[in-house]
Amino acid sequence: MKVVVGSGIIGSWIAYQLAKAGEEVYVIEKSENAGDGISGRNSGVLHSGIYYDPNSLKSKLCLRGYELAISFFQKHQVPFLLCGKVITSGLSNSKEEETEKQIEIEKLLENGKNIGIPDLEIKQNPGNHWKHVEGNSALWVPKTGVVDVPTYLKMLWRACEEEGVQFLKNKKIVIDQGSVFSIDETTQVREEIEADHFINAGGLYSDELIKQAGSEDYEIRPNKGEYFRLKKTLPYETLIYPLPMKTSTALGVHYTFHLAGDAYAGPNSNWAESKEDYKMQTPRSEYFESLRKILNFYKEEDLSEGYVGLRPRLFYKGAAIKDFTILKQSNWIHLLGIESPGLTSAPAIAEEVVGMME
Ligand SMILES: Cc1cc2nc3c(=O)[nH]c(=O)nc-3n(C[C@H](O)[C@H](O)[C@H](O)COP(=O)(O)OP(=O)(O)OC[C@H]3O[C@@H](n4cnc5c(N)ncnc54)[C@H](O)[C@@H]3O)c2cc1C
Repeated sequence: MKVVVGSGIIGSWIAYQLAKAGEEVYVIEKSENAGDGISGRNSGVLHSGIYYDPNSLKSKLCLRGYELAISFFQKHQVPFLLCGKVITSGLSNSKEEETEKQIEIEKLLENGKNIGIPDLEIKQNPGNHWKHVEGNSALWVPKTGVVDVPTYLKMLWRACEEEGVQFLKNKKIVIDQGSVFSIDETTQVREEIEADHFINAGGLYSDELIKQAGSEDYEIRPNKGEYFRLKKTLPYETLIYPLPMKTSTALGVHYTFHLAGDAYAGPNSNWAESKEDYKMQTPRSEYFESLRKILNFYKEEDLSEGYVGLRPRLFYKGAAIKDFTILKQSNWIHLLGIESPGLTSAPAIAEEVVGMME
């Protein structure tokens, strides 16, 4: 028997692949509603992998995950759109900044070509190709898409159930002196669980379980990404991004749209007060300034408060870890720091985890 902790996109994909391989699988979720975690609060973008070091797990699993995710969408009627993305230099404050940005765009192009992303192209004066886009040059990445995340999660859970996966909600897993217990969140009744493998896909809380298992040095710090809702969509369906942030793994405030018809600007990057801190904190004027650097389509009044997602930033002995971390310790597999591009990579992360059990 395999027990997966967490019913987000990562735990659910692992459960699905294990069940398809003939295993008896239980998914145990502490929340009453599956999908309450990071998986329900993101940009819904299928990333090409262009940003990541080619030797990283993020790069390898994003490339593979993209292909597997699209096959799943086609098989299970999940709405998605391969709309492409524009990464623009945007407005700059100085000549030096502009020169640096041109170098960054060239570097991204080079990285993308190295890992085989097709049809990349640098466009001068991107505003001539995509109206309202600011900047002197931009990288066009046709291999990028958006997916309807609520439907994706729903269809994945349905596919899991069809393969025989059992979901137990409102139950929290803890490790106490080497034994594993499930605690009912309502009654607090505690029950010991035995399994041949446990998989810790606890998202923001996965550090708690690895600490309880004896590895005290891992810590997840929640990093807040706020989204503002935009009054109207752009007149074309393409994602507009700035160059990625240098100080963080965040990609910078970008324009995105959901297939249901809403458009958003986001997410920014600030430390959250806690793993439950979902309150909006950035003044609209400050946020508008970030968006204005890449697009001249909106007025400040077009922005209204949207939603907040929390990134599970991983630290080991106080040092930031940029890559996904997947660790096998006795009969546990721990997944830590599964931030972006986790949604894209999920099916490939699951393959990796299943492979570690063989
Ligand atoms: C702002 C933001 C934007 C993003 N945008 C993108 C994007 O556009 N494209 C992309 O590819 N990726 C994106 N990501 C990353 C992606 O959303 C995540 O990598 C992915 O959703 C992580 O899923 P998860 O299953 O690990 O976590 P979660 O969805 O949080 O699931 C973990 C689950 O485990 C449960 N749990 C925790 N501890 C326990 C316990 N002890 N017992 C029982 N249950 C437990 C929790 O309740 C939760 O439901 C974004 C992330 C953020 C924050």
